[in-house]
Amino acid sequence: MTKIDRFKEESVTDTSAEYAIKDELPAKRKADMNTPNAQSKLAALKTFIRQRENLLVITGAGISTASGIGDYRDQAGNWKRAQPVSHQDFLASYAWRQRYWARSQLGYPSFMAAQPNSAHQALVRMEQAGQLCGLVTQNVDRLHQRAGHQNVVDLHGRLDQVICIDCRALVDRDDIQVWLDAKNPWLGSQSFSPAPDGDADVLTDFSAVEVPSCDYCGGILKPHVVFFGDSVDRHVVDRIMGQVDQADGILVVGTSLMVFSSFRFVRQAHARGVPVAALNQGVTRADELITLKVNEPCMALDGLVAR
Ligand SMILES: [Zn+2]
Repeated sequence: MTKIDRFKEESVTDTSAEYAIKDELPAKRKADMNTPNAQSKLAALKTFIRQRENLLVITGAGISTASGIGDYRDQAGNWKRAQPVSHQDFLASYAWRQRYWARSQLGYPSFMAAQPNSAHQALVRMEQAGQLCGLVTQNVDRLHQRAGHQNVVDLHGRLDQVICIDCRALVDRDDIQVWLDAKNPWLGSQSFSPAPDGDADVLTDFSAVEVPSCDYCGGILKPHVVFFGDSVDRHVVDRIMGQVDQADGILVVGTSLMVFSSFRFVRQAHARGVPVAALNQGVTRADELITLKVNEPCMALDGLVAR
């Protein structure tokens, strides 16, 4: 396994990638976007964006669904499916880790095959035009970075890395996939359906699943993401709070903000009198704090940002 320098700056950029964009909207959605109300809201959002020089963008699962990555909540902000494994269960139980890694072995390849879409690219154009003071994402898919975005905070970590909870060594998740496929080849013949965050639904007995451990100290390996029940690093929160203080506006894209880790930044902005616009299909936890709410698909952003 390749050890990754844990102090390495996160600035993965791959602008040469071929983007297999799955961003064609169904005809009905296109028709909905042509209604006078939707058009006036989108025009207002375009103006909001154009008038800002220091926007802080906060994104969530909704921006990646058009790339084929599933999300957890419906438009009412409720859970569509069972909550994923918690931090506490993962660390406390070998059986939970067997379940996690088996499901991840099946779900990870298609998760990582997803490509950035036109909404990710619109945000890249805004960054290149010097309009952003930062971008915070709750997604662990790295699609912003792969679209070419430079200044991104992965609020909930990144699924393409694995960390040892004992010695803090970082390992490339692709290397873990090779290990898993070699140790648990029988899983490859199981039928499954992909689930959010590189997970997969599969009906099988997990008791024979082999679980990877740290090559350096034998410790427990965990995906380098913030599981439910865990908390975001205080330094990361402080850095974003500093960006909120600099911002002349907040743009929320594709998130219901149901998780406090991101909701607090909108609350902070509102307390400072910084206007907040949201492009999201469905309710958000911050609806009362939002200045301009646009209930449209994230890809509508593409038409609002200059090329
Ligand atoms: Zn270790």
